Amino acid sequence: MSDFASLGLAPSLMEALAKENYATPTPIQTQAIPPVLAGHDVQGIAQTGTGKTAAFALPILHRLLTNRRRAAPKTCRVLVLAPTRELAGQIADSFRAYGRFTPLRVAIMYGGVGKYPQARAVAQGVDVLVATPGRLLDHIGDHALRLDATEVLVLDEADHMLDLGFIIPIRRIAAMLPAERQTLFFSATMPKEIATLARQLLRDPIQVAVTPAATTVERIAQQVIFVEAAAKRSLLATMLAAPEARGGRSLVFTRTKHGADKVVKQLELAGIESAAIHGNKSQGQRERALQSFRNGEIRVLIATDIAARGIDVDGVTHVINFDLPNVPETYVHRIGRTARAGAEGLAISFCDGSERSFLRDIEKLIGKRIPAGQPMSRAA
Ligand code: AMP
Repeated sequence: MSDFASLGLAPSLMEALAKENYATPTPIQTQAIPPVLAGHDVQGIAQTGTGKTAAFALPILHRLLTNRRRAAPKTCRVLVLAPTRELAGQIADSFRAYGRFTPLRVAIMYGGVGKYPQARAVAQGVDVLVATPGRLLDHIGDHALRLDATEVLVLDEADHMLDLGFIIPIRRIAAMLPAERQTLFFSATMPKEIATLARQLLRDPIQVAVTPAATTVERIAQQVIFVEAAAKRSLLATMLAAPEARGGRSLVFTRTKHGADKVVKQLELAGIESAAIHGNKSQGQRERALQSFRNGEIRVLIATDIAARGIDVDGVTHVINFDLPNVPETYVHRIGRTARAGAEGLAISFCDGSERSFLRDIEKLIGKRIPAGQPMSRAA
């Protein structure tokens, strides 16, 4: 097993890794860091939770350090595109954490907050800019930023960009970058449109892949509880009041924003404090909810898939699918929120009569039957 030292990363980055307590690279890091260091384009299939952010951030920081150059005003040397502001925030945090002992500067641009501070942050030029596509194009339209001197383009969660209708903006953005650049492309899945986009953006890419479905799913105890739709809310309240859940941190997924709000209200009636994050909440509300969940003030967070994508919270002990997702890959994404960094977790899915076909599709994808369980008893 290779360790970080053998990858040849700069000492200031190694120091930051020691501070993060990363001892060994994850499989995606072992595969992706050497080709990125060597300047190749890389196409990676990996989902959140596999360590993919460090897989691109570390070698990028290393290259910026070994080829020190001041970014010209209103330019960035590296552009990272992410589908949501939460993911953009986390990627920027990771670059800052891994680059904490370097002089490299990181800026961020996303919608829902004022543009002026974001424009000011790139006025003198930055090393790394993490952005969502729409807000980035806004700033370019305002002449606050240009991309003709950008050396590296990273596209993260490309399949999610597709879901959110960002493919055309991405093509527009990529066309503004020099043809002579390094491009890194990460996606959890490779539907046809994404494979086409990758072909257009990448040049002789090195392909790297980790198989998250199998590896992540293996460590997570899963069970399904068959229940009438109308009984889901009281079952959830009962389960969350059980001692096993009370001592832990539970992430509850609903299919709709409205459903998430209803669950919060129902739990409140049962005396269980929770908060919801979804697209109708303001950035401030989402950040406050996440923060209270991270610091343990609340132990139940209700989320929709889009809002939760990319959110990284350690120590989630229970993932509860209040509704089953109709896209089976989403199930794997959801339950991957527990069992992070080698920990074990429990994933419980409520399944009503109308969701049986979703369950069958999920079982087909993960290649096994999910045992039927009683509330909060661990699956065998
Ligand atoms: P990501 O897939 O980039 O969202 O990373 C998932 C989580 O794994 C984050 O909390 C990282 O801080 C953590 N992580 C990434 N690389 C390592 C590593 N080599 N050792 C331990 N934890 C890691």
